[in-house]
Order: sequence, then structure tokens, then C-alpha cells
Amino acid sequence: MSTLKAVRGTRDLLPPETALWNRIEATARRVFARYNFGEIRTPIFEDTSLFARSVGEETDIVSKEMYTWEDRARAQSEKPQSLTLRPENTAGVVRAYIEHKLGETGQLQKLYYIGPQFRRERPQKGRYRQFWQIGAEVIGPPSAGSESPLRDAEVLDMLAALLDDLGITGWTLHLNSVGSAADRARYNDVLRAALASVAPKMCADCQRRAVTNPLRVLDCKVPEDQPIIETLPRIADHLDPASKEHFAAVTAALDAAGVTYTLNPRLVRGLDYYTRTTFEFTHGGLGAQNALLGGGRYDGLSEALGGPRAPGIGFAIGLDRLVLTLQAQQEQAAVADKVDAYVAPMADAKDAAKLAAMNAAGLALARELRRAGLSVELGDGSFRLKKSFEAADKTARRIVILGEDELQSGILTVKDFSIGNQTKVPRAELAAHLAAPSHQ
Ligand code: AMP
Repeated sequence: MSTLKAVRGTRDLLPPETALWNRIEATARRVFARYNFGEIRTPIFEDTSLFARSVGEETDIVSKEMYTWEDRARAQSEKPQSLTLRPENTAGVVRAYIEHKLGETGQLQKLYYIGPQFRRERPQKGRYRQFWQIGAEVIGPPSAGSESPLRDAEVLDMLAALLDDLGITGWTLHLNSVGSAADRARYNDVLRAALASVAPKMCADCQRRAVTNPLRVLDCKVPEDQPIIETLPRIADHLDPASKEHFAAVTAALDAAGVTYTLNPRLVRGLDYYTRTTFEFTHGGLGAQNALLGGGRYDGLSEALGGPRAPGIGFAIGLDRLVLTLQAQQEQAAVADKVDAYVAPMADAKDAAKLAAMNAAGLALARELRRAGLSVELGDGSFRLKKSFEAADKTARRIVILGEDELQSGILTVKDFSIGNQTKVPRAELAAHLAAPSHQ
């Protein structure tokens, strides 16, 4: 019988990694509380039409990535209901806002969530089929100030504070405005017209998008298509005066608050509901999947779902990617702090002559390695093995054991602390072995 494994694209989270997840979640809750956000928990599955109507039929998420099934009817006369595991959480939050008539409070609703999302994407590092998001939404009636550019700036300031509190260094905030729904529609037409002549020279996906959803062409990552995309009209030139003014107020507030950003005219984001401000925070350490988080305004979403007018802005942070970023940073810091090797001479502490001889041999080995350019800490032959290991673990990437046997045979025992394995290495190869990075 074959052994059962976690399904492709899903994974178990185990200690000690879960400690890092807990720390991130606790930090997020603390920072969100400072900005007066409260937690919302929505169901993990919803009626399929919720996502079709919000995220958009033509998006990759809805057209090919959702986990959808027909739920059996309770009575013969009833039709089965189409249900979907949530691929994102904004739609669920806005559904709850409408269902619980939160708009009638007249107050701005500031809500955050932490939970798993599901998309049938091709799994790779930083991209999973069950992944976690930490997100927040500010939504409310216009009379509560929900349309104000100040809200956009406050949300972005909160994200910068969260990443700083987590100790994430080297992030970049990319910022753009996709204008009002009318601007978007007009720009879509302009783009469609511009693409008509160049699309045949582009990738198959772009050829399809040029017809179905031209905005998505701007997201294309195929290198050969980039020079063509650079020549396409920019949305910034197609914003109406009110959207232009709104965006100028967002950037002015960010400048005043000292939040740094990069204007990125190609940032339109993949979901249909975005209007005006859109943004993404990227991190260089993540490789191909470099978006740590994304978000934007969705001023017409509530109405599209049959609710009252309720402009809003929100974001979703990829928790899996936040963990990867912090792990990489910690490894770099930890490895950078440590010396290459700890040489541990081993002798019977009661035999003074042997102890002195072994310590001298240890010093000779350390000298040899240091001359080869390695950073080395030298232990003492009187230490017990356990004590040597503890001292070495704190200061070095690897420990080299030098006892009678090793001295005679010229074969040293080396343990690598970062991967936990122990190997035998001939003395002539020792310096090269210790200079190399850890590998399984
Ligand atoms: P989106 O809802 O597509 O705007 O994504 C928001 C954030 O969620 C992204 O910036 C990623 O950090 C994260 N994310 C989206 N899809 C995945 C995935 N399949 N696996 C891991 N993280 C993801």
C-alpha cells in the first residue's frame, strides 16, 4: 500500500516553524489594534456566485483556480447549491458587511482576518494551493469618510509599520491608481485598440487577454512581451480629474507621513473589483513569487454584490511568503554571526601530559585552518564532549572533533549544526569542506 501524503500544494506546519507563524500573527494583531481594527472570521466556503460577481468571471482565479463542488440538495425540489472554497477573503468580508447591515451603524468598519485561502495554482516555492493570508478592510458609507484618500494612506502606513515591527528589511511599496470603474472601462477600450495590432506578436495568454481582459496583459511576466508592454498606453493618462486628485492626495499624505513608495503604472492587479488606489509590497529575497502582499480600493464592490454604496480599501498579506522572508533573513543573520568552525580537542582531563599534547594538536589544527582563511574558535581538551558541542553550537557553523583516533588516522569528524549531519573528512580536505556552504 502506498503511504499517504499531504495533497500536492498543501503542507504541514510543524514546530519550530510554527513559533514563527505565531509570532507574526501576534505582531499583526498588535499592530492592527493600534490602528483600531477588530477581527472578523468568515466561513471557509461560500456560494460560488459570490466570487464570480466580485473577483470576476474573466480572472484566472475564477476561470480556472477555484475548488468548486455541487452541494447535494436537501429536498428533491431543491437545486444543488454550487459552493467554493474561498480563494480570497475580501468578497466574504463585504458579503458579511451587507448581510449584517454594518453600514447602518454609520461608522467606518475596520476589520482584519487571518486564515487559509485556496487556489488551484501550479505549486512552487512561495505558491501553494492552500495558503494563508492576513488581511484587513476599511469599509463604510461615504458619510463616514470611507472614500477619503486619508484612509488609503493610513492603511499603507499601517502596512509599513507592520513590516517594520516584524523586522522585515528591504521591502518596496509599488503604487498606482486604476481610476474609477468608468476610467477602467475607457482604458480597457483604449488598451484593446492598442493591442489589436501587437497582440499577435505576444504570448498565447496575452493574445487571449487582449480580447477578454486587456488590463491583465500588463501583468504578463514573459520576457519577450515586456518591450511591447512598455509601449502600451498608461492608465495614468486616462484618469478622470476626481481620480487624479484622489491619487495626488494619497501620495501627498504618504509623503507627509514619511512612507516611501515607487509609482508603478503597470500595477493593475488581477482582481476585477479594484478602483483607484492599487498597491503591492514586494521583497527581493522571494525570487519569482516576489509579492509579499497586495491590495487596493474597491469602491463599487458592495453595490456589485447587491449591497448599499460602501467604498472600501483593503489588502491581503501572503503569510507563507512573510515566513519565507523572515526565515531567509534569520538564516543570513545567524550564519553571518557564526565562525566557520569550532575545533574541539578531546583528552582525558586527568592525564596532564596527554591533555597538553592534545591541546597543542588542536592549536596546530586551528592554525592550519586559520591560515587557509577560515574563522575558527578553539575549544579545550578538558571539556567534556557535551560541553564542547554546546559551546560550538553557539559560536560556529560546524564542529571538528580531534581525539586520539582522529589524530592518528588523519580523518576528522565534522558535524554541521544547520543541517544536523555528521561526516568524516580527511585532514587534507578539511579546509575546503569547512569553507563550503551547508548542504544535505
Ligand atoms: P491576491 O489575493 O492575489 O492579491 O494575493 C495577495 C497575496 O497573497 C499575494 O501578494 C501573495 O503574497 C499571497 N498569495 C496569493 N496567492 C498565493 C499562493 N497560491 N500561495 C501563497 N501565497 C499566495
